[in-house]
Amino acid sequence: MALTVLNYHSVQDVADTSFPWVVTKNSFAAQMQLLKDNHIAVLDVRDLRTKSDLQKLVRSKSNTVLLTFDDCFADNVDNVLPILKTHNFDATFFCVGKTVSEISQDSDWTTKGEYNHNTLKCMNIAQLKALSEGGFTLGFHSYSHQSLINASPDTLDQEIHQTVQQLAQAGITTEMTFAAPYGVYQNRRTVRCLTELLQQHGYYSAFLGKSGHTTSWDNLLCMPRIPVLGPHTMSDFEGILKGQKMMYFFMKDGYKVVRFKLMGR
Ligand SMILES: [Zn+2]
Repeated sequence: MALTVLNYHSVQDVADTSFPWVVTKNSFAAQMQLLKDNHIAVLDVRDLRTKSDLQKLVRSKSNTVLLTFDDCFADNVDNVLPILKTHNFDATFFCVGKTVSEISQDSDWTTKGEYNHNTLKCMNIAQLKALSEGGFTLGFHSYSHQSLINASPDTLDQEIHQTVQQLAQAGITTEMTFAAPYGVYQNRRTVRCLTELLQQHGYYSAFLGKSGHTTSWDNLLCMPRIPVLGPHTMSDFEGILKGQKMMYFFMKDGYKVVRFKLMGR
């Protein structure tokens, strides 16, 4: 086990007990310090373009991590970028097309109940541009942020293509890497259709909701990730890096994480 793709969302000053996808700034800083202290290499998604890149990495002895952030929340600008810059760590941010605008847009994922916060803002065009010009990788997270698990091929095609044109028109440099909102991994037919479309559109990597550590037989267009959540302790985080599997139990009411269970490899 040598490659772990970590998946973050919002990073805020204070914890939010009803929303496990918020990691506090202090926890995030401590987690990045732990990577640094343990000499864990932080790669960029651009380092993983071919199957042989992946195989070399997974077979290597040294532990490597890839940092990914979904949704391009505006809080990442103040609470994530300075910490990454301190350590000189690369990271990939996945942006949602409908939030790309001159002004910061509210993330309105509340319509489906998944995100219980109206006030979370997404990055505006200037912030997305600064991110990419600052050397960070900007990838795609669909246009509408709707669940694509049962989407038709036409919808999938639009969702992976529309934002590419939009960001190009805004003069923002991007990489052809994709993260599916909410994941589609449970639907094999969608995974097959989506990976074909991603390939046709020139994507070289994608994260479709598969969870776990990366293995040498993983498909670059369906790579696994491990979510880092607010309730994780530092020892949970160390467990993730050591290859321990983690199970999550979510309750529908308030999206509280009721129990974490660490399992052996
Ligand atoms: Zn998302």
